[in-house]
Amino acid sequence: MHLNPYGEYAVLMAASLANDWPRDRAGIEQRTREFGMSMAFGQHPADHTRTKAVIDDWLRVVDAEDPAVRARLLNQQMAAAAAYPRLTDHDDEGWHLHYRDENDALPDVLRAVISVGTALHLSERGMHRLRRCAAEPCTAVVVDVTRNGRQRYCSVRCANRAAVRRHRAQGGEVAKVGPVGLEPTTRGLKVRCSAN
Ligand SMILES: [Zn+2]
Ligand SMILES: [Zn+2]
Repeated sequence: MHLNPYGEYAVLMAASLANDWPRDRAGIEQRTREFGMSMAFGQHPADHTRTKAVIDDWLRVVDAEDPAVRARLLNQQMAAAAAYPRLTDHDDEGWHLHYRDENDALPDVLRAVISVGTALHLSERGMHRLRRCAAEPCTAVVVDVTRNGRQRYCSVRCANRAAVRRHRAQGGEVAKVGPVGLEPTTRGLKVRCSAN
Protein backbone atom coordinates (compact mmCIF):
# COMPACT_ATOMS: atom_id res chain seq x y z
CA MET A 1 0.00 0.00 0.00
CA HIS A 2 1.23 3.47 -0.83
CA LEU A 3 1.62 6.49 1.37
CA ASN A 4 1.78 9.32 -1.11
CA PRO A 5 3.99 12.29 -0.14
CA TYR A 6 1.17 13.85 1.85
CA GLY A 7 -0.21 10.70 3.46
CA GLU A 8 -3.48 11.88 2.07
CA TYR A 9 -5.41 8.67 1.48
CA ALA A 10 -4.54 7.31 4.95
CA VAL A 11 -5.89 10.42 6.72
CA LEU A 12 -8.99 10.46 4.52
CA MET A 13 -9.57 6.79 5.32
CA ALA A 14 -9.25 7.48 9.06
CA ALA A 15 -11.77 10.32 8.77
CA SER A 16 -14.13 8.08 6.80
CA LEU A 17 -13.96 5.41 9.53
CA ALA A 18 -14.48 8.04 12.24
CA ASN A 19 -17.39 9.73 10.46
CA ASP A 20 -19.11 6.53 9.38
CA TRP A 21 -18.02 3.68 11.64
CA PRO A 22 -18.64 0.26 9.99
CA ARG A 23 -20.91 -2.10 11.91
CA ASP A 24 -18.65 -5.14 11.41
CA ARG A 25 -15.16 -6.23 10.51
CA ALA A 26 -16.05 -6.78 6.84
CA GLY A 27 -17.14 -3.17 6.64
CA ILE A 28 -13.75 -1.99 7.89
CA GLU A 29 -11.91 -4.15 5.38
CA GLN A 30 -14.21 -2.95 2.61
CA ARG A 31 -13.32 0.65 3.55
CA THR A 32 -9.59 -0.10 3.24
CA ARG A 33 -10.28 -1.35 -0.31
CA GLU A 34 -12.22 1.79 -1.17
CA PHE A 35 -9.20 3.85 -0.15
CA GLY A 36 -6.80 1.81 -2.25
CA MET A 37 -5.31 -0.77 0.12
CA SER A 38 -4.90 -4.16 -1.53
CA MET A 39 -3.29 -6.36 1.12
CA ALA A 40 -5.05 -9.34 2.73
CA PHE A 41 -5.43 -9.18 6.51
CA GLY A 42 -5.36 -11.98 9.03
CA GLN A 43 -8.70 -12.62 10.76
CA HIS A 44 -8.91 -12.11 14.51
CA PRO A 45 -12.09 -12.00 16.66
CA ALA A 46 -11.11 -8.69 18.28
CA ASP A 47 -10.42 -6.85 14.99
CA HIS A 48 -13.58 -4.72 15.07
CA THR A 49 -13.13 -3.64 18.71
CA ARG A 50 -9.39 -3.05 18.37
CA THR A 51 -9.79 -0.97 15.22
CA LYS A 52 -12.37 1.16 17.03
CA ALA A 53 -9.70 1.85 19.66
CA VAL A 54 -7.30 2.88 16.87
CA ILE A 55 -9.85 5.39 15.56
CA ASP A 56 -10.68 6.67 19.08
CA ASP A 57 -6.96 7.29 19.70
CA TRP A 58 -6.71 9.06 16.37
CA LEU A 59 -9.67 11.29 17.31
CA ARG A 60 -7.63 12.52 20.29
CA VAL A 61 -5.12 13.82 17.70
CA VAL A 62 -7.97 15.48 15.79
CA ASP A 63 -9.21 17.16 18.98
CA ALA A 64 -5.77 18.33 20.11
CA GLU A 65 -5.58 21.93 18.93
CA ASP A 66 -2.09 22.74 20.20
CA PRO A 67 0.41 21.54 17.55
CA ALA A 68 2.85 20.39 20.25
CA VAL A 69 0.18 18.26 21.94
CA ARG A 70 -0.93 16.96 18.55
CA ALA A 71 2.66 15.99 17.72
CA ARG A 72 3.18 14.29 21.10
CA LEU A 73 0.05 12.15 20.69
CA LEU A 74 1.02 11.17 17.15
CA ASN A 75 4.57 10.34 18.22
CA GLN A 76 3.16 8.03 20.92
CA GLN A 77 0.95 6.30 18.37
CA MET A 78 3.76 5.92 15.85
CA ALA A 79 6.05 4.55 18.56
CA ALA A 80 3.39 1.95 19.42
CA ALA A 81 2.66 0.92 15.84
CA ALA A 82 5.34 1.90 13.41
CA ALA A 83 8.77 0.42 12.75
CA TYR A 84 11.71 1.44 10.62
CA PRO A 85 10.71 1.87 6.96
CA ARG A 86 10.90 -1.27 4.87
CA LEU A 87 10.86 -1.70 1.09
CA THR A 88 8.26 -4.22 -0.04
CA ASP A 89 6.69 -5.44 -3.30
CA HIS A 90 3.50 -7.33 -2.40
CA ASP A 91 0.31 -7.84 -4.45
CA ASP A 92 1.86 -6.42 -7.64
CA GLU A 93 1.76 -2.92 -6.19
CA GLY A 94 5.31 -2.13 -7.18
CA TRP A 95 8.09 -1.35 -4.73
CA HIS A 96 7.00 0.91 -1.91
CA LEU A 97 7.65 1.61 1.75
CA HIS A 98 5.95 0.05 4.76
CA TYR A 99 6.34 1.75 8.12
CA ARG A 100 5.64 -1.32 10.24
CA ASP A 101 6.73 -4.85 11.05
CA GLU A 102 5.54 -7.80 8.98
CA ASN A 103 2.27 -8.11 10.86
CA ASP A 104 -0.95 -8.54 8.93
CA ALA A 105 -3.49 -7.92 11.72
CA LEU A 106 -6.01 -5.31 10.56
CA PRO A 107 -5.88 -2.99 13.63
CA ASP A 108 -2.08 -3.01 13.77
CA VAL A 109 -1.70 -2.24 10.08
CA LEU A 110 -4.28 0.54 10.31
CA ARG A 111 -2.65 2.08 13.38
CA ALA A 112 0.70 2.27 11.58
CA VAL A 113 -0.72 3.50 8.27
CA ILE A 114 -3.01 6.09 9.89
CA SER A 115 -0.47 7.47 12.38
CA VAL A 116 2.37 7.75 9.84
CA GLY A 117 0.01 9.05 7.15
CA THR A 118 -1.38 11.70 9.50
CA ALA A 119 2.13 12.74 10.55
CA LEU A 120 3.11 13.11 6.88
CA HIS A 121 -0.06 15.05 6.06
CA LEU A 122 0.38 17.49 8.98
CA SER A 123 4.12 18.00 8.59
CA GLU A 124 3.98 18.44 4.81
CA ARG A 125 0.81 20.50 4.54
CA GLY A 126 0.42 22.19 7.90
CA MET A 127 -0.20 21.13 11.51
CA HIS A 128 -3.65 22.77 11.52
CA ARG A 129 -5.07 20.79 8.59
CA LEU A 130 -7.18 18.42 10.67
CA ARG A 131 -10.21 19.41 12.69
CA ARG A 132 -13.88 18.90 13.50
CA CYS A 133 -16.50 20.55 11.30
CA ALA A 134 -17.11 24.14 12.46
CA ALA A 135 -20.88 23.99 11.87
CA GLU A 136 -22.25 22.85 15.23
CA PRO A 137 -23.73 20.44 16.14
CA CYS A 138 -21.90 18.56 13.34
CA THR A 139 -18.79 16.82 14.70
CA ALA A 140 -17.55 15.24 11.46
CA VAL A 141 -13.78 15.17 11.00
CA VAL A 142 -12.45 17.49 8.30
CA VAL A 143 -9.15 16.62 6.58
CA ASP A 144 -8.07 19.81 4.87
CA VAL A 145 -6.42 18.97 1.54
CA THR A 146 -7.45 22.23 -0.12
CA ARG A 147 -4.94 24.49 -1.82
CA ASN A 148 -5.36 27.41 0.59
CA GLY A 149 -5.71 25.33 3.76
CA ARG A 150 -8.77 27.10 5.15
CA GLN A 151 -11.41 24.37 5.02
CA ARG A 152 -13.63 24.56 8.13
CA TYR A 153 -16.68 22.55 7.14
CA CYS A 154 -17.19 18.88 6.27
CA SER A 155 -19.61 19.58 3.42
CA VAL A 156 -21.33 22.24 1.33
CA ARG A 157 -24.42 21.61 3.42
CA CYS A 158 -22.61 22.51 6.67
CA ALA A 159 -20.91 25.53 5.07
CA ASN A 160 -24.28 26.86 3.96
CA ARG A 161 -25.86 26.25 7.36
CA ALA A 162 -23.04 28.21 9.00
CA ALA A 163 -23.45 31.05 6.48
CA VAL A 164 -27.14 31.34 7.30
CA ARG A 165 -26.36 31.38 11.01
CA ARG A 166 -23.70 34.09 10.59
CA HIS A 167 -26.12 36.18 8.60
CA ARG A 168 -28.83 35.84 11.24
CA ALA A 169 -26.34 36.79 13.96
CA GLN A 170 -25.65 39.98 12.05
CA GLY A 171 -29.36 40.80 12.13
CA GLY A 172 -30.00 40.09 8.47
CA GLU A 173 -33.02 38.46 6.96
CA VAL A 174 -32.35 34.95 5.74
CA ALA A 175 -34.32 35.68 2.59
CA LYS A 176 -31.75 38.28 1.59
CA VAL A 177 -28.88 35.83 1.82
CA GLY A 178 -29.68 34.50 -1.62
CA PRO A 179 -28.51 31.19 -3.05
CA VAL A 180 -25.46 30.96 -0.76
CA GLY A 181 -27.66 30.59 2.30
CA LEU A 182 -29.95 27.98 0.87
CA GLU A 183 -29.55 24.26 1.20
CA PRO A 184 -28.07 22.72 -1.95
CA THR A 185 -31.30 20.85 -2.63
CA THR A 186 -33.35 24.02 -2.88
CA ARG A 187 -30.77 26.04 -4.75
CA GLY A 188 -31.82 24.75 -8.15
CA LEU A 189 -35.52 25.43 -7.64
CA LYS A 190 -37.09 28.23 -9.62
CA VAL A 191 -38.59 30.98 -7.50
CA ARG A 192 -41.88 32.29 -8.82
CA CYS A 193 -41.67 36.01 -9.41
CA SER A 194 -44.69 37.88 -8.06
CA ALA A 195 -44.10 40.78 -10.46
CA ASN A 196 -45.16 38.69 -13.47
ZN1 LIG B 1 1.94 -2.16 0.92
ZN1 LIG C 1 -20.30 19.25 9.11
